[in-house]
Amino acid sequence: MVNAVSPPPGAKVIDGRAVAAKIRLELASRIRNLVERHQVTPGLAVILVGDNPASEVYVRNKVLACAQVGVHSTKYRLPSTTTTEHVIDLIATLNSTPSIHGILVQLPLPVHVDMRLVLECIAVQKDVDAFHLYNVGALVTGGTIFSPCTPYGVMKLLDHEHIPVAGQNIVVVGASNIVGKPMALMLMQRDATVCICHAKTRDLAQFTILADILVVAAGRPNLILPQMVKTGAVVIDVGINRMPDGSIAGDVDFEGVRAKASYITPVPGGVGPMTVTMLLENTVAAAERLVAGRAPA
Ligand code: NAP
Repeated sequence: MVNAVSPPPGAKVIDGRAVAAKIRLELASRIRNLVERHQVTPGLAVILVGDNPASEVYVRNKVLACAQVGVHSTKYRLPSTTTTEHVIDLIATLNSTPSIHGILVQLPLPVHVDMRLVLECIAVQKDVDAFHLYNVGALVTGGTIFSPCTPYGVMKLLDHEHIPVAGQNIVVVGASNIVGKPMALMLMQRDATVCICHAKTRDLAQFTILADILVVAAGRPNLILPQMVKTGAVVIDVGINRMPDGSIAGDVDFEGVRAKASYITPVPGGVGPMTVTMLLENTVAAAERLVAGRAPA
């Protein structure tokens, strides 16, 4: 008799598009409530300076996503010659515009525009990208008004799959201000034991192999190979890499790691759809907070 050995079942692929669609449905209902009970439509102002083609695509997607759920969006397209002062003046106006609940400055800005100064001018209660130093600092102490969209999206995916975070060994690969660092802080606030790796980490695999949950945001295709991942680990791939054949890939060897992990996110279709959804969530939350402060229902 042949003793058949069944292949490992392979990881559950977390469908970020489906989770994002579910959250957007809930958002649409919250927006209807705001409109019907408070006559308030959440409003997002998006500022785009210059003509970076990638930024144009991101802004277009954000504006489209707003329209889909019922957030009112206004796009401010400024020429690449725009000065720091001009951007700050526009932000000051938007800070005091009641119909605008969230302000987003699409990054990167042209080099002559002082990004730090610009971001610091956004009113903290309208800082839906969470890049203002108040929100960055509050991530450390645990009192954020808004969470940065990509790590927030990762947390939502983990929660949606009922993956426990507290007490888990979590390795974050990538230490940028936009993804890696806030990701690590948000996980720490949920009582995970967190290790952050970056480009100068010696022998990355000695860290990744210990991870119960591995979050990868390095922007390096095939950085994470199966032998670097613990059997049964949860693997979240934040990376987005444009490959020579025009396709999009993450940072993880998807097929190889899938055979070993318990959960894995695909690229595309994993974390990506969650990022814009969390921007919508932050904008709706900003409008709800304003309404609650003004006149509790
Ligand atoms: P980034 O600012 O370039 O930061 C990359 C980070 O990865 C840095 O901390 C860098 O280390 C580290 N790194 C680079 N090579 C590494 C290596 N070989 N081993 C270990 N660490 C390495 O990029 P980012 O803005 O954080 O974005 C990271 C990736 O996520 C990109 O592919 C980006 O497109 C993607 N992304 C996706 C979404 C989404 O919605 N899915 C949102 C944002 C970003 P050093 O600090 O030492 O340089």
